[in-house]
Amino acid sequence: MAKRDYYDVLGVDRGATQDDIKKAYRKLAMQYHPDRNKGDAGAEEKFKEVGEAYAVLSDQDKRAQYDRFGHSPAGGGFRPGQQGGGFEFDLSDALRQFMEGGMFGDFFGQQRGGGRSSTRVRGNDLQLKLSLTLEEISEGVRKTIRVKRLRPCETCHGSGSAAGSTPTECPTCRGQGQVRQVSRTILGQFVNIQTCPQCHGEGKIVANPCKSCNGEGRTRVEDTIHVDIPAGVSSGQYLTLRGEGHSGPRNGPAGDLIVLIDEKEHEYFERDGDNIIYKLSVSIPQLLLGDSVEVPTLSGKAQLKLESGLSPGKILRMRGKGLPALNGYGRGDQLVEIDLQVPKKLSSTEKSMIEKLRESENFKVQANDKGFFERVREAFGS
Ligand SMILES: [Zn+2]
Ligand SMILES: [Zn+2]
Repeated sequence: MAKRDYYDVLGVDRGATQDDIKKAYRKLAMQYHPDRNKGDAGAEEKFKEVGEAYAVLSDQDKRAQYDRFGHSPAGGGFRPGQQGGGFEFDLSDALRQFMEGGMFGDFFGQQRGGGRSSTRVRGNDLQLKLSLTLEEISEGVRKTIRVKRLRPCETCHGSGSAAGSTPTECPTCRGQGQVRQVSRTILGQFVNIQTCPQCHGEGKIVANPCKSCNGEGRTRVEDTIHVDIPAGVSSGQYLTLRGEGHSGPRNGPAGDLIVLIDEKEHEYFERDGDNIIYKLSVSIPQLLLGDSVEVPTLSGKAQLKLESGLSPGKILRMRGKGLPALNGYGRGDQLVEIDLQVPKKLSSTEKSMIEKLRESENFKVQANDKGFFERVREAFGS
């Protein structure tokens, strides 16, 4: 699919200031944020598109490159996201950018670029799916999960250097973390600033690498971490555990762990927002005579009274037996749908009993004729 022009995506013109771009981004990202558009794939696409446009236009170097070459720059393209995979800006990139940019702290004030010296490389994000039962969602739960990730090397404490040695200035970029590449084109001289290929932006190189991590400053470990899941979450929502992803090389900041919520199918219940739907099978005598039955709920068994004369398909409401509202007060209800179970076959005794009933006064069907509407009007006094 062809990408839309980034300026069009944000609805700003080519001369827009960084401030204009920031404002436009905030407004659109708020509008299309997945939390506000549950299950709307179109909104999620917009959210990613807006995030990608912002990632490029908010960065002076990338914007200059985009202005010149559009979506297909010479030399292989740039990456709006912080890690590999090429040009795609995925949902976790978009969400992280939104968090950093809009909700937590002022990312815009401390944006990199301009006269920077060196940077530490951030570790990648990790994503995992967490399956939860409705009972767990109902109460909220602390889950213990195993995570395989790169964390700081214990031998060198993340520095990557063998004991007694320290990293030295990168000779390629002389500690700047960036290299300038000047190319001559028909249009004139073009300066392209890139992350230094030798030190990957760190400005330093490890001359005497630690043997445990080969100078990476991080090793692969399997950790156990606890995640507190708030009550009321639903499939497709996510929690971002800041800094719980892969550590960056040589004490670079860690990426995030994004936990996607996945709701397990329940044996009895179906979920409808904060309500829980339960189908209760009842017999003809139960419908006619009423009964008191035991039904399962998310918090154990409960008694439910069936009034006599119930109609099949009717929905009974068990107040407060549903799921709690996420970030709110109150609970949904358990909705019990009455499902009539009609016997597939009858014994001869049963048959003769039912035949007797058929002739009985109260079992004669009242047609929905004109008289019916007259009776209704009488009953409501109009
Ligand atoms: Zn090490
Ligand atoms: Zn370098």
